[in-house]
Amino acid sequence: NGFVKLGLAKELLQAVADMGFTQPTAVQLATIPKAMQALDAENKDPKAKFTDLLVSSQTGSGKTAAFLLPVLHTLLMQQEEAERTERAEFERLSAEAIARGESPAKKPKRKDPTNTRNFKAATPGALILCPTRELAQQVCADAIDLVRHCRGLRVANVVGGIPYQLQIAKLQNANLVVATPGRLLDLQRSMQIKLDQVQFLVVDEADRMLDLGFADDLTEVNQLTIERKQTMMFSATFAPRIMQLATRVMRQPQRVEI
Ligand code: AMP
Repeated sequence: NGFVKLGLAKELLQAVADMGFTQPTAVQLATIPKAMQALDAENKDPKAKFTDLLVSSQTGSGKTAAFLLPVLHTLLMQQEEAERTERAEFERLSAEAIARGESPAKKPKRKDPTNTRNFKAATPGALILCPTRELAQQVCADAIDLVRHCRGLRVANVVGGIPYQLQIAKLQNANLVVATPGRLLDLQRSMQIKLDQVQFLVVDEADRMLDLGFADDLTEVNQLTIERKQTMMFSATFAPRIMQLATRVMRQPQRVEI
């Protein structure tokens, strides 16, 4: 399978194989390694920077997996690292307790997210913005397919036209949110979602985003996620207004032209 050499986690390789993908498309080959470049470096240097990417891409090129795979891979690596740290801490506490002649530490209980008393605003680590509800739903469906073997990675869709209560329930504990800008900012203003932990921001079909009048919403999301590590923008064209947007929301983006 041609995806193996991209260095993706085995859970994602398995999902890609399940979906019948055998070779990465051109945009996937060009984007995935660049998007993940910082990863090795990040393990050694927590301040290492991910590269911002401005990618030219048409519908049907495989662009969705080109941004979902590196983002999901990084979230997965971070989650595994957090679990290792938690396990090591638990073992250390247990060993200390036993050395004192006490019973070993108890595993911390996980909070039940369905209990409304435990309600907390959602704090996704990755945010994918799409211009239309249809596209957001398609991207979300692809993301759900890709995380099928990733225990603990959760994906949620935030789009207009769906009852708020239904959306909010699914949003809890989501690591990756696929959204249209209007509904996302509604939920942000009503404090159902906080965007300050977003590390990875993807703007899909940026040209249509501007056509549909989302420039101000993009500016607002940009400000709400100012601490993020990486931004990727996908667009059918690199027209001047796209370049202007890129200058506003990205830091020295690398251009990927297919
Ligand atoms: P997209 O451009 O992201 O809308 O993808 C277009 C279609 O190509 C979707 O149906 C994907 O499931 C499919 N696809 C994406 N990547 C691959 C791949 N590497 N091999 C085969 N099909 C793919």
